[in-house]
Amino acid sequence: MNRTAFDALIVGGGASGMMAAITAAEQGCRVLLLEKNDRPGRKLYITGKGRCNLTNDCPAQTVLENVPTNPKFLYSAMQAFPPQRTMEFFTSLGVPLKTERGRRVFPASDRAADIIDALWNRCRALRVAFQSCTAERILTQDGAAVGVATDKGEFFAPAVLLAVGGASYPRTGSTGDGYRMVQAVGHTVTPLTGSLVPLEENGSLCAQLAGLTLKNVGVRLRNAAGKIVYEDFGEAEFTDFGLSGPTILSCSAHMGNDTGFTVLFDLKPALDEATIDAKLLRLFREDGTHTLTAVLNKMLPRQLVSPVLHLAGLPVSQGTDTLPREGRRRLIGALKRFPIPIRGKRPIEEAIVTSGGVSVREVDPATMRSKRVPGLYFAGEILDVDAYTGGFNLQIAWATGHAAGAAIAAAKKEREHA
Ligand SMILES: Cc1cc2nc3c(=O)[nH]c(=O)nc-3n(C[C@H](O)[C@H](O)[C@H](O)COP(=O)(O)OP(=O)(O)OC[C@H]3O[C@@H](n4cnc5c(N)ncnc54)[C@H](O)[C@@H]3O)c2cc1C
Repeated sequence: MNRTAFDALIVGGGASGMMAAITAAEQGCRVLLLEKNDRPGRKLYITGKGRCNLTNDCPAQTVLENVPTNPKFLYSAMQAFPPQRTMEFFTSLGVPLKTERGRRVFPASDRAADIIDALWNRCRALRVAFQSCTAERILTQDGAAVGVATDKGEFFAPAVLLAVGGASYPRTGSTGDGYRMVQAVGHTVTPLTGSLVPLEENGSLCAQLAGLTLKNVGVRLRNAAGKIVYEDFGEAEFTDFGLSGPTILSCSAHMGNDTGFTVLFDLKPALDEATIDAKLLRLFREDGTHTLTAVLNKMLPRQLVSPVLHLAGLPVSQGTDTLPREGRRRLIGALKRFPIPIRGKRPIEEAIVTSGGVSVREVDPATMRSKRVPGLYFAGEILDVDAYTGGFNLQIAWATGHAAGAAIAAAKKEREHA
């Protein structure tokens, strides 16, 4: 292979790799994109349920507030390429955008394919070369990255960017290859775990309630030591194995590899305990049946009534006339702190993102350049950063891809002027 044909090898034609390729090529680099699939962007097709929630229309600082792992590392890249720039970038490529609830940004067409086409067409217009192959090893010379060994041969360039993604949804191509490759050249990979992933219940209640969605529920995540480590409000679903839905996925981002968690639902988040008490007493007076079940049916989804009564230690046949103050107190406790013990997360393969990855201590935050291996760069999910849902993970991919692409181009200019 011609050792001088390219200024940069970009391994991984996903969100961050294509953004890096475009940025470097726009600044005069000859780029070769190495992608294991026949076409780039396979994971992008399934983002946002096929609609691609490509960013969040918020300031850079708000993005960082939605990054539970290593937000400080992203400060420079996010300032340089905030959501506003992402939106301008895609609009300039001819993709009209729209903003929905929670400031989530989508293509106006609701088609993730439009995002992939825009990126890929821009790559082609910039003459980014494409090679479908699987990268196996980073080639080094005197400690510096000089190329990549693949199943289709060796490729060389003075800059190598690893943008191979994480280990979740491996069918899209991100099978975690990058971790092994970077460890082989001396980088540290922090423990990997799925994030934004459903949770498995330690018990069988959820299976009985499977299909039930709670729309406006308060959610708190309690760790084994009894500390509340995350609080949220919104939607949660009961499934055959446990819990899912947006609030639950966000909880998973705070669990790491630990166990012993409990999800506590606040089934009446808009009401404090005294207000619930007053409401119960009013309903007791108004309800002609004088049974607690009938009253709770007016306050809760029907499927939850018997589990709530059970938790409060009250029989289903409990009459309202004979309910002592202490029973009412237990009932209110069950409504405000309805617990689901968690066995753990679903497997990493089912996670929206991978938490853990290349240690950010070993990467320069402004350029995404390795501090250990000259000529090596990183972008996207392979790094030990991950965010909540809302378009923040793709925003990380665009911003880090842009930082790496710009740094690769700057390094080429430096070499030329040396
Ligand atoms: C179901 C689902 C829905 C999601 N929805 C959203 C959303 O709406 N909004 C959002 O912000 N985020 C979303 N995400 C997360 C988002 O898709 C990722 O964070 C993002 O794609 C990461 O970009 P990346 O470039 O790092 O990796 P990827 O996009 O995964 O790209 C990595 C690329 O590298 C290639 N590759 C891997 N190994 C090799 C190798 N050895 N050789 C050559 N190529 C290789 C892969 O084939 C792949 O094309 C979603 C994720 C999933 C799974």
